[in-house]
Amino acid sequence: MWRWCKRSILLAAVMLKASLAVAVPTAVFTQAASQQGTVAIVGASVINVEDGSTIPNAVVVIEGDRIKAMGPAATTSIPADAHTIRMDGKWLAPGLLNMHTHFGLKLPGPAGAALENETDMQLVLRMAENARKSLYAGVTTVRMVGEEHGSDFALKAAIDGGTALGPRIQSAGEIIATTGGHGFLEADGPAELAKAVRQQIKNGATWIKVAISGGISDSHGSISASTMTHDEMKTVIEVAHRNGAKVTAHNGSPIAADEALALGIDCFEHAYHLTEKQLRTMKAQGAWLVPTAVVTDEGALEFYRKIGSPPWYLERVRSTRVDHHKMLQTAVKLGVNIALGTDQFPFEPNAGTTATVREAELYVAAGMTPLQALQAATLKPATMLEMEKDVGSLKPGKYADIIAVSANPAQDIAALRTIGFVMKGGQVVRHDQPLP
Ligand SMILES: [Zn+2]
Repeated sequence: MWRWCKRSILLAAVMLKASLAVAVPTAVFTQAASQQGTVAIVGASVINVEDGSTIPNAVVVIEGDRIKAMGPAATTSIPADAHTIRMDGKWLAPGLLNMHTHFGLKLPGPAGAALENETDMQLVLRMAENARKSLYAGVTTVRMVGEEHGSDFALKAAIDGGTALGPRIQSAGEIIATTGGHGFLEADGPAELAKAVRQQIKNGATWIKVAISGGISDSHGSISASTMTHDEMKTVIEVAHRNGAKVTAHNGSPIAADEALALGIDCFEHAYHLTEKQLRTMKAQGAWLVPTAVVTDEGALEFYRKIGSPPWYLERVRSTRVDHHKMLQTAVKLGVNIALGTDQFPFEPNAGTTATVREAELYVAAGMTPLQALQAATLKPATMLEMEKDVGSLKPGKYADIIAVSANPAQDIAALRTIGFVMKGGQVVRHDQPLP
């Protein structure tokens, strides 16, 4: 999906990072400081996303940024100094994780063209706004799979430092591709590719994103073509693994998938045209699938129209849809590890909800139970990121990353449409109140 406007590399992102470090927005600072103490959320049902069980009328005690205690009201005491938040009739679930995001997303069409001369300073500010909106939509952790010029690492530093509001971030830095491929950072041959991988890791990447086939937003080439040589692919995966980074590939090609799986790749994005053969290998190897089902679904067409997507682009969406949905159904049936990702902004309106919630609904449409879809949005990605000790479920010791909804999403995934409360690390970032 990702499309780039080529520009010279500026030091702007670094400069912005430096300026954010001293300029602390008062409102954010006050809100965070006031919540350093103990908070108790009372009256709600807590969902255990591991098995779908619930604790009705629960007490969740939060101290600082983590859950301290949790249990039925009858047996869980509320500390005397706790600030109490009443959530009667609501259901508490873990904050959602979205594993395929680009906060600096630009796509073909007038909306993308209008950003052609965007400076890196403007880019990172736009990304910060998209981070805030994503968090507000209930997404408390994201994996970024392709941003430009270190903007992702500047944003992550600001969020981690408390000077910008947004989800927790793991990032892959820039997308690495061979010349003419589906990526901004072009490198050819093992030597150049090894350097490109090492550079992303040096910048802070915990994942490497490599394009091993064409994409929908490319104006040339087949999505099913495998564009990298064996030595090139082998080098990317080997160098990343030697440095402790995992590798995910933008991939719609079955041939490329076979080659990458034989080399031990960790994850595929989209997987548009993959067949049962590749999906069985993924299942056997424990490889991850981030489906981005929303990008070819009917619900995204309103978005493509809004941004003025050209006819050739809409045609590529339509022609990819059949295989993409069939692939997802097969992956669900085989029990492939699926982690939710959208490739649209996590908050992007889609079919009357957000892209993130719609993506989970499409997993149910493809055969998952509502609990499995909820796990694909919480537990599974937390495991994929090796963050399961910190996020992905509501348990004492984990970060207090919590959303509240009006019904149980483990019974009906559409309950995620009713997110009205978002807490990240013990800080309330959204709490909708009924109008007086
Ligand atoms: Zn993407």
